[in-house]
Amino acid sequence: MESLAIRHRPKGFERVAGQGHAVEFLSQLIIEGQICRNILLYGAIGSGKTTLARIYAKALTCEQQPFPGGSPCLDCKSCRDIGAGEATNFHELDAPSYENFVQLKSKIDSLALGASKGWRRVIFIDEAQSLARYPQSFDYLLKKVEEPNEGISYCFATTAFEKISPALRSRLHCLEIRPLILPDCIKYLERIAEAENIKTSPDALALIAALGDGQPRNMLHVLEVVSRNADVTVDRVRQIYNFGYTEILTRYFIALGQGDFRRQTEIFFQWNEDAREKVRLIQVLMLSLYYKELCGLSLTIDPVIASMAPSDRAQIITAFRERLKEANLKSFWEGLIQAWPVITSDLSEESLFILITDFQRRVSAASEIVEHVPPEGPFFSPTEAAWRPPVDKMTTRQQRRGGRSEVGKDPRYLTYDQVKDLFNAASFLTQEYGCQFNIRVTVRSRLFGCDTKSEVSKLLSGFAHAFTDRLNKWIGHSHWLCVQEFEDGAVCSRIIAVGPQPDSREFKMMQKWFSNWRKNERTAGQEEQAITADLTSTQKSARKMKSHWDSVRWLCAGMNPAEPIYKRLVLPKSRQAGDLGSKRRRHSASESLTPSGMADAMQHEMEPLSAFDDEAWDHLYNGWELQEFHDRQKEKGQRQADIHAISRKYPRGDQEQDEKRKREYGELLKSWPDRYRRPRSWYAWHPPDEVD
Ligand SMILES: [Zn+2]
Repeated sequence: MESLAIRHRPKGFERVAGQGHAVEFLSQLIIEGQICRNILLYGAIGSGKTTLARIYAKALTCEQQPFPGGSPCLDCKSCRDIGAGEATNFHELDAPSYENFVQLKSKIDSLALGASKGWRRVIFIDEAQSLARYPQSFDYLLKKVEEPNEGISYCFATTAFEKISPALRSRLHCLEIRPLILPDCIKYLERIAEAENIKTSPDALALIAALGDGQPRNMLHVLEVVSRNADVTVDRVRQIYNFGYTEILTRYFIALGQGDFRRQTEIFFQWNEDAREKVRLIQVLMLSLYYKELCGLSLTIDPVIASMAPSDRAQIITAFRERLKEANLKSFWEGLIQAWPVITSDLSEESLFILITDFQRRVSAASEIVEHVPPEGPFFSPTEAAWRPPVDKMTTRQQRRGGRSEVGKDPRYLTYDQVKDLFNAASFLTQEYGCQFNIRVTVRSRLFGCDTKSEVSKLLSGFAHAFTDRLNKWIGHSHWLCVQEFEDGAVCSRIIAVGPQPDSREFKMMQKWFSNWRKNERTAGQEEQAITADLTSTQKSARKMKSHWDSVRWLCAGMNPAEPIYKRLVLPKSRQAGDLGSKRRRHSASESLTPSGMADAMQHEMEPLSAFDDEAWDHLYNGWELQEFHDRQKEKGQRQADIHAISRKYPRGDQEQDEKRKREYGELLKSWPDRYRRPRSWYAWHPPDEVD
């Protein structure tokens, strides 16, 4: 029998769960006259990108349009051919299966021939991130997309948005396919369960949603497994998917309740789980107990935690009650939540252990907590927390004083403004492109036998050019920041860059290139020191953000330690940048990160946020940019779509229509919220002016 996921694959727009924005955009194209657009769908595996692309393709070529909601009729020849995989007007290309660029190009060339009037063809390129293996394929596709033959629509799908070249992305309509939010997951699973005659409960479905990460295909897979010959209950799900950690958590919390410090520590360290995840689970259970047991609210923060047996939860509360007889447990708990340390993504495991030890000590010495003064700033970092406090407690302007430069200019060091530029460019990089710095390079002019100033300049700018060129070839884009400073009496360049993925072929090519670039000009015996490179190999996004900011701090170590902000930035051991003379440019950047490059990306009033400019120091290193990247993409897509809608409404060339269009543009522009008030999935700080 077919799997649940295949049986219930949606065949029309109205059957797609969630994804309001993407569905509306695509169905609108059909309703307005089967309009061809070039599209990029991005999202996790199993989120439904391919399904959506197929519906769009069918609807675009359906012979019976208009059909309600823009969906395909599923009955005409074209719809049936696509359904049977025999269509001549819909082609699915699996990018990784092409062995080289030439093969892929000849396939696309053969499909992209002009269609006759009114005839449509969709070329669907799945797993498009693997095109990055052949950087020239992006240039080729860019041309195809810019001048498509009539009736041809290119549709790309990818799990790694950032690997698609920015130039190509900018010509496509980008639609994010996100995991479903919990209520939508439950509604969706209920619908399927009903159609399949499976008995379920909402709590069990919430567990399934958590196990499937809110991705339709994964959730249906879990549902299929747990519904085999049984009703779907919480116990049934727990029995099949072993949530061993809830048992450990229960023991840990009972030890907390009893104030048994030794036992808490034992359990915590014997618990075989990533330290960050342990801390997260403790936070979540703390909040869950607060809402359910202490406030009597039914609020699901995490379905797995919510599914813990009521008797276990009662045991925890009893343990606390017995120790803190007269104390008000609820306010004690509020004290605990307030005392919870700020967990930022750049904390090392060791620091987490220190924080947890401190936390346990506080819980065990109960009297101290009730009087504890809440710490400044948010308790949770946006990237780590499952739940966030609705109001961001900002420190006041006065407390934040010390942000501005208070030191006279010292030519030996990087200035406050230079460091500010570097930090803002680094933050912008992740907000706009979703990527992080992962390479640190030092190029030493003295080991290339440079004597004169002009030789040094030529060498260092030559390197920057060559490196930019290489990066474009390897990964399709180049983002880097550079600082020039002195080392051993000679000028060197320190560069941080976004490089190829570790373990990739391009990564190895880059290492080789570093050791071979102008090798014969290097000082004999010291060839390896002429260019040194530090390459991070982490794949996890929280760690990537940590190493991103580590790189920026490394780059800025030439700042004057006398600047009050120096300490706040937690810069590594100071390096003197050295007096380069007033004419030489101290810092430079790739085109994408220069002021004009950044301005290009800010069209449609999409100004980036800057924790540095706003002196929101709590947010400097906590990785909010990752979330902002997704929100920003979405908002950009929306604004682009709104502009298109207006320009479609009023044909060009007619004076009256031109006037109307201009007026409506003006109104649209006014309706866009400023950068602090754009729709977001995380809580940004307040605009600085409103804090005072
Ligand atoms: Zn049809």
